[in-house]
Amino acid sequence: MRILIANDDGYLAPGLAALVQACQGLGDIDVVAPESNASGTSNALTLNRPLNVFIADGEAQRGFRVVNGTPSDCVHVALTGLLEQRPDLVVSGINNGANMGDDTLYSGTVAAAMEGYLFGVPAIAFSQVDKGWQHLDAAARTAREVIERVLPTLQQRGGPWLLNVNIPNRADALQLPRVVTRLGRRHASEPVIRQVNPRGETIYWIGPAGSAREAGEGTDFYAASQGRVSITPLQVDLTDHAALSDWRHLLATAA
Ligand code: MN
Repeated sequence: MRILIANDDGYLAPGLAALVQACQGLGDIDVVAPESNASGTSNALTLNRPLNVFIADGEAQRGFRVVNGTPSDCVHVALTGLLEQRPDLVVSGINNGANMGDDTLYSGTVAAAMEGYLFGVPAIAFSQVDKGWQHLDAAARTAREVIERVLPTLQQRGGPWLLNVNIPNRADALQLPRVVTRLGRRHASEPVIRQVNPRGETIYWIGPAGSAREAGEGTDFYAASQGRVSITPLQVDLTDHAALSDWRHLLATAA
């Protein structure tokens, strides 16, 4: 069993070290992670400059391969030439904060896992619901439990799959109920924050994410609010299947 581990908070993030530590003994582990925090970079690939890879030697990061690029770069480079053997599973995280609902479109954590999925490798993205790394050890043990459950099914499941897991920041995370959920929705983001820089120019900070809008029973937001571990199976097809025929009638000139 070979496991590739990546993240989006950067190779020095405690969540990555905790996930790597938690996966010890499950198989051969390769870690390929971004040099700096690349949260919110979605599926971006770096195409306008080459990428460097160096080997980390910090105590908690020994042997990690570090890429000066995005989370997707890390997994892409790993799968297309850096690693000698293809992994059986890609895991990403543990992220510093939730990735629920619309977050999954912007998340580098989900994107790193998705890059594996797009290359045909089953993948799991892990996030802690709240920022700040509280009870990270418990989250890491929970991640290991989920990985241990899916590992024996990798062969029989066929086809790649992608799971998005959000873990409450609780000491008893491992004992919490795990529920399979659908993505909720967020309100549109908070307004942009306008400031004036020291040179008198107006600058803009992207505002914080909106609060949950669709957070009913069955959603990831609901599960997290109930103190449960949320597991959402994701797919990548963005086609609006329900609207195909309507748009065909309005716009198509041929079948
Ligand atoms: Mn992040």
